[in-house]
Amino acid sequence: MCPRAERSGRARALAVPAAQGVDRVLITRARLRRRIRELAAQLSEDYAGGEVVCVGALNGVICFLADLMRELSVPAPVELVHVDRFLEGGSHTVDMPNQFREGLRGRDVLIVEDIVDTGVTLRALVDKVRAEAPATLKICALLDKPAHRQAEVHLDYVGFSIPPVFVVGYGLDYEGFYRNLPFVGVVDSAVWPPALLERPKSGSNLD
Ligand code: 5GP
Repeated sequence: MCPRAERSGRARALAVPAAQGVDRVLITRARLRRRIRELAAQLSEDYAGGEVVCVGALNGVICFLADLMRELSVPAPVELVHVDRFLEGGSHTVDMPNQFREGLRGRDVLIVEDIVDTGVTLRALVDKVRAEAPATLKICALLDKPAHRQAEVHLDYVGFSIPPVFVVGYGLDYEGFYRNLPFVGVVDSAVWPPALLERPKSGSNLD
């Protein structure tokens, strides 16, 4: 697409009421679609002849998981996990209260993540899945923000590596809004992460 057409496409994407407050488009709908097709092609090749159980953490993963799984050519049962994150005694902790419904023991499991920032959430999810003794475990993240990494995690598949900005859209929210945007945008004014993380434990599900 020529730069002028792309610029006007981005301006149109930001003009809808649901995008009010979003400062710029970081990843367009078209780029997301293209990259997700590439990831799915790679995954379908890597898991060819078998199946892959996709484990996603709610709610941010909804758009990515829905689009990715529909592009996979191998059988792909899905398991969804609720994640509560809080700041406790100055450190970032994660709680995943629900049990897996799919038995993961001995199966090929793929954690599908929307975004990896500090890596603390993913680390907790990896530990929870590992405790089920899967045959293999790999990780596919749509967005990787390596600048803030605190926990060691290895990402096997990455959609886009992005700078340390606060992004919304395509499943990612700010105060519950913007999840339904079809692109990934930047809210420059968002206070992230301290003000959001320091909410009281009850009702502090950030995602
Ligand atoms: P981590 O534990 O890696 O720091 O954070 C992972 C979770 O924090 C993500 O699942 C997401 O809920 C939230 N998060 C991290 N960075 C962003 C961001 O830029 N935008 C939004 N909306 N959420 C983010």
